[in-house]
Amino acid sequence: MILNTHNLAVLFDEQLNSWEQAGSNYEALAKVLVKEITVDGFPFKVQFNPARIVSSAAKVDAKSISERKCFLCKENRPAVQKGLEYINNGNSENPYTVLINPFPIFPKHLTIPLLDHTLQLISGRFDAMLNLAKELPGYTLFYNGPKCGASAPDHFHFQAGNKGFLTIESELKNMERDQILHTNNTDVSLVKGIFSGLILIDSSSPEESNEIFEKILSVLPVKEQEAEPMVNILCWHEISEGEQGRFITLIYLRDKHRPSHYFAQGDSNILLSPAAVDLGGVLITPLEKDFHKISEREIKEIMDEILISESDTKAIVNKIKTVL
Ligand SMILES: [Zn+2]
Repeated sequence: MILNTHNLAVLFDEQLNSWEQAGSNYEALAKVLVKEITVDGFPFKVQFNPARIVSSAAKVDAKSISERKCFLCKENRPAVQKGLEYINNGNSENPYTVLINPFPIFPKHLTIPLLDHTLQLISGRFDAMLNLAKELPGYTLFYNGPKCGASAPDHFHFQAGNKGFLTIESELKNMERDQILHTNNTDVSLVKGIFSGLILIDSSSPEESNEIFEKILSVLPVKEQEAEPMVNILCWHEISEGEQGRFITLIYLRDKHRPSHYFAQGDSNILLSPAAVDLGGVLITPLEKDFHKISEREIKEIMDEILISESDTKAIVNKIKTVL
C-alpha cells in the first residue's frame, strides 16, 4: 500500500490492534508523567517514558552495531509490523517505508527507513524530508545524525511525530532571529535563545530549501572520523489560510553526542541522550529519578554542552554567508 492520509490512519488502527507490544506502549504513553520547565524563556516539557530506554541507552558504537541484526531492515522486522510505501523522486528501486514506531514519544510516531540498508547520511536525501513533510501534513519530520541520537546509524531513516507536540513549533514565532539570507521565496536566519547554533530555513519553495540546505551542509565542520557534520533536523510544512504553504526547516548544530550528565556517576547522573525531539522542546527521561531531578539548571547545562558554542556559531554563520 502507498502512503496517503487515509492509508496511514488505517495502518495506525490496524497495528495498534494486531501488534501487542506497540498497542501496549501506545496505551502506556497516554499515562506518562509530564512536567513543564521554562529555561531562558523557552518552554520545555519533560516526559518520563520508561519504554524509551531501548533508544536512550542504545549502544551505537561500530562494534555493537555490527553485532546486532538491523531492526530497520525488512527481513528482520517483526512479521506483524506493516508499512506504507513512499517513492521519492521516482526512485522506485529504493523506496521509503512508513512504519509505526513501537516505542512512541508522540501519540502518533512514525519511523521512515529506506528499503536498502544504507548509512544514515543526510546529504542528497534532504529533498525526501521536504517531500514527506508535504505528504504528511499532520506531522513534523525529524532526522537524527549518526552521532546525534540515531539508534540505527547504519540504516538511513527519518522519523515523524504528530504536530502540536514539540513546543518549538508554536514557540518559534516568538524567538528572535538574525537574518542570514532573504529572497522572494526564502528566509534563512539564526534563531537566538536557548539553542545556540540553530539555523532556520523558512521557504515556500522545496527546491530552494533543498539547494540552500545542501550549501549550508557543505560548509559545516566535520569531526575527525565522522562522515557528516553533527546535526539534528526538524522539518514541517505549514499552511496558513490564504497563503502558499511554507517549508520550515530547523538545523541544530551539535558539538557533542551525549552530555557529561549521561556519563556522570552518582547524583549528577541523568540518562538523557538528546536528539531532535529533545531539541524540539520535549526532553525524554526513561528513568523516573531523572524526571524528578531535572531542573532548569541541568537543562541549561545539557543544551550548552551538546550544541556548538556562540563563537563557533558566529564563525559558521560567516561561512554560510559566503556560499548563499
Ligand atoms: Zn538495515
